[in-house]
Amino acid sequence: MFGKGSIFYSVTKNKCPRCQSGEFFRHSNHYRLSGFTKMNEDCDQCGLHYELEPGFFYGSMYVSYAFNIAWFVTVWVATSVLFPEINKMLQFLIVVVVLLAMFPISYRLSRLLYINFFVRFKNKEELNP
Ligand SMILES: [Zn+2]
Repeated sequence: MFGKGSIFYSVTKNKCPRCQSGEFFRHSNHYRLSGFTKMNEDCDQCGLHYELEPGFFYGSMYVSYAFNIAWFVTVWVATSVLFPEINKMLQFLIVVVVLLAMFPISYRLSRLLYINFFVRFKNKEELNP
C-alpha cells in the first residue's frame, strides 16, 4: 500500500510517478533554499517529460491551497486547545510562521501529488514490452 507502485511512495520519496526510480526534484532536501523548487525536466530512468503540457503545474496550486488550509486549521485548532487565552493576533502570527515554514514541503508535495493524479505507475515489463 505504501511501497513501490503506490502514489504515497512517489510523493514521499521524490520519485517519478511512472517508473518510481528517477528523481522528480533535483535535490531531496526540502529546505535547500537555493534550489528546493528545481525540478528535473525529464525522468532519467524512463524519459517521462514531467511538464505534461505547457503550464501543467498551475493546477498544483489547488493542491497546495488544500495543504495550506489543512495546515492553517490544524495550527489554529492546536493553538486554541493548548492556549485557550491566546491573543488572536498572536495566534494568527503563529499560523503564518508555520505556513511559511511549511511552504517548501507544501510546494513539493503538491507538485508530486498533482502529477500522480495524471500519470500511473508502470513496472519494468510495462515500460519495456
Ligand atoms: Zn521515470
